Amino acid sequence: MYNISFKAYNNKKLKQIHQKINTSAWIWNYCISLQKRYYSLYGGYINANRLQKHIAKLRNKNPKWKELNSQSVQEICQRVDESYKRFFKGLAKRPPKFKKAKHFNSFVLKQSGWKIEDNILTIGKTRYKFSKSRNYENIKRIVVKRNKLGEIFFILCCDLKPIKYERVGNATIGIDFGLKVLLTLSNGQEIQSPEFFKSNLKAIKSLNRQLSKKKKGSKNRRKALKNLQRVHINISNKRDDYEWKLAHELCKNNSFIAIEDLNIEAMKRLWGRKVSDLSFSSFVLKLEQVANKYNTVVQKVDRWFASSKTCTCGVVNKELKLSDREWVCSSCGEIHSRDLLAANNILRQGIVEYKSKCKTDLSATYDDGKESHSL
Ligand SMILES: [Zn+2]
Repeated sequence: MYNISFKAYNNKKLKQIHQKINTSAWIWNYCISLQKRYYSLYGGYINANRLQKHIAKLRNKNPKWKELNSQSVQEICQRVDESYKRFFKGLAKRPPKFKKAKHFNSFVLKQSGWKIEDNILTIGKTRYKFSKSRNYENIKRIVVKRNKLGEIFFILCCDLKPIKYERVGNATIGIDFGLKVLLTLSNGQEIQSPEFFKSNLKAIKSLNRQLSKKKKGSKNRRKALKNLQRVHINISNKRDDYEWKLAHELCKNNSFIAIEDLNIEAMKRLWGRKVSDLSFSSFVLKLEQVANKYNTVVQKVDRWFASSKTCTCGVVNKELKLSDREWVCSSCGEIHSRDLLAANNILRQGIVEYKSKCKTDLSATYDDGKESHSL
């Protein structure tokens, strides 16, 4: 099991969530008071089963309690029970305590009473949007949590069991990373760098300027800092989302993907900060993760391999500068578009490295793909 936390969008609907959490606190406190009374009378505690039955009956009579899903109410009883068990086993020094509503911070959604689709969690009949910063799958339960700032988070507890996706294509591609064109594929397809990278960069610059003008330690400075942090978080969420989708798209259609094993540090020194903006490494990590689910091979190619300088005839153009987008081979006269040539060379090199890696025969699908690509 692993947990993924998503922040709910702040709007009026969240009032209902706060209400549910407060009701949960009420029920918790009610259970504690029942237990305390029972203990003073009989010296023991009410077991989970009896407590749950009793509370379920009360829930049916109480419209406010009914706002909470019956399973969520059960879960509170279980929490109370576990706390008492810990106390009686000597694992906790004190019995569970009453809690103020504002210190009570969560309730749990189990198997039913909720539905999730993309970035919308529906509880009962109300739809709550959240910022979907990454993909989720196989949700076992959801914890609805309130933090100290009063912000609401949905924590998805997902089963680790790996999910497999069906691939629709069996092509093989090589990918060249770039600045203007984010990805150039060996089949000629170009994927442009999304606009939000650029527009957000502008926003960050302006917010940074604003921040530097504010007096240190002032309220306005704190505000400006918060604004800046918000944009940063926003960008990284959007970028993650974009990269996940791109990774899925590539893995869905290809059985073999060759990419350059980029040394980000070296590239940063060469090209400046833009490279890190495009966050290649985080994309490659996602690509490998997604590829696993589609049974797609991702082959990294040695980063010192001169992908954009090597002609198909084998001649290496040592004079090629970073600014040259096209070049003509001095030996065979072929005209090369730099990125496309790189992508094709990466694919070819990837196949060579993959073949030497697994000495066994490659699968039929892989050979099909190779034939369809003119090497
Ligand atoms: Zn040539």
